[in-house]
Amino acid sequence: MIATDLQASESPVSEAQVDASTAWIVVTPEKPRWRDVPHGKALGVRHVRQLATAVNEAWATDLPNRRSTRAVHLPLAAPSTPFELLGAARRAVELALENNPKELLVSLHGCGRQLAADACEALAAAALARSVAMPVAKRAPPPPSKLGRVRFAGPGAAIDGPRVRAEAEGNGFARQLAALPPNELTPGAYRERVATLAVDRGLRYDFHDIAALKRRGAGAFLAVVQGSTAKDAGIVHLGYRPPGARRDVPRVALVGKGLCYDTGGVNVKTARHMFGMHQDMTGSAVALGTLLALQALKVPFAVDAWLALAANHIGPDAYQPNDIVRAADGTSIEVVHTDAEGRMVLADTLLLATAGKPALAIDYATLTGACIYSLGKSYSAVFTNRPALVPLLTAAGQASGERVWPFPFDADYDKALESQVADIRQCALDGEADHILAARFLSRFVQNDTPWVHLDLAAANRKGGLAHIATDETGFGVRYTLQLLLDSKVLAHLG
Ligand SMILES: [Zn+2]
Repeated sequence: MIATDLQASESPVSEAQVDASTAWIVVTPEKPRWRDVPHGKALGVRHVRQLATAVNEAWATDLPNRRSTRAVHLPLAAPSTPFELLGAARRAVELALENNPKELLVSLHGCGRQLAADACEALAAAALARSVAMPVAKRAPPPPSKLGRVRFAGPGAAIDGPRVRAEAEGNGFARQLAALPPNELTPGAYRERVATLAVDRGLRYDFHDIAALKRRGAGAFLAVVQGSTAKDAGIVHLGYRPPGARRDVPRVALVGKGLCYDTGGVNVKTARHMFGMHQDMTGSAVALGTLLALQALKVPFAVDAWLALAANHIGPDAYQPNDIVRAADGTSIEVVHTDAEGRMVLADTLLLATAGKPALAIDYATLTGACIYSLGKSYSAVFTNRPALVPLLTAAGQASGERVWPFPFDADYDKALESQVADIRQCALDGEADHILAARFLSRFVQNDTPWVHLDLAAANRKGGLAHIATDETGFGVRYTLQLLLDSKVLAHLG
């Protein structure tokens, strides 16, 4: 839980307030009117000396007052994209919180109401993201954040504290899980954590273990996990129901790929591609983090999370290319490449998640290398079986700063998945446009024509972080989904 309190007041900040603070961020337009800013004269002179200072780039100085207040100036361009604002906010917060203060003062001067509100949100998101402690096994771990309060002051200052906090906790939760080493976060240990969490948070909890999945004939999922000695894989189902809700309240299903380790299987990965594969469970962590955020916000619709917890191991029992297996709906699948395990476990998980026809199913998966080759790691890919939704899905990415890009989803791509011996091939051997083929493959397992959105998380882990997130683990998807469900109102668009 993040303890930092967020406050906003429209009254302008005084020089006495600044002098009582140890950390202060001054937000202004590109060309500040320094005479309206406390200590404006000193800041103005130093600003001119900052020859390298560019718009949206914060710079820092310590004020000549008793507390040597750390002052950070953030000159903002209008307009700036949400992505640009979040990145600028991250840098400003890094500079301001360098000495781990208990409080941060943010003052706004002449920004205009919209930019001021957006800047507050971005700075709060960046400050809370930074206060999430990441798991490390060092003898001397970095000191925990002391930040207890962030105060925004000045015309246009505004903050939706519960929303920012819920999002930061959901995102932070996903990042913390993703950072755990694979000998600690095994599928079994992951399931236990989630079971405990479900009790703590009052969520419905159900676990489909290997025996249960056998009874259902979930052969696609089971093929992947047959190489693991520990028989601890399975599908976790968590449920949130709004307090006092009617039975016919809309339901959203969040589906996540939770590969706690992906060696590639028999088609084993090389060192370069294997290192980091403990984070192949990030999709499930994002689904879980999103569920927690939506629960914290007491949203008026039901949310189910379906987490495919598994590992893709090598061993005498591991599944092999040319195996033919059957998913729970009877579809036979010709295995082509054992490293395409994500779509196998998700096939059966999607079948479960969409059996009751939710209003919308969203899946999150670090699914394909092809997606990263296509986009890099600053965007994730989005696919949907509702083409009319594409503009809304893309716009939600721009608006949230977690940007997504749509790829083709035409039926003629299915030609590459035709099998001589089974109903469908798992993937193509040459791997061309594999992110598109993976999406086409998954769509076969969405039941009842459920509206479905698939996120291939190219941006799940990016060296140096992304937008307001400073860690390599980005938690990408939590913020996007809140935007999609709460601001873009995707459920209303589905009718
Ligand atoms: Zn793989």
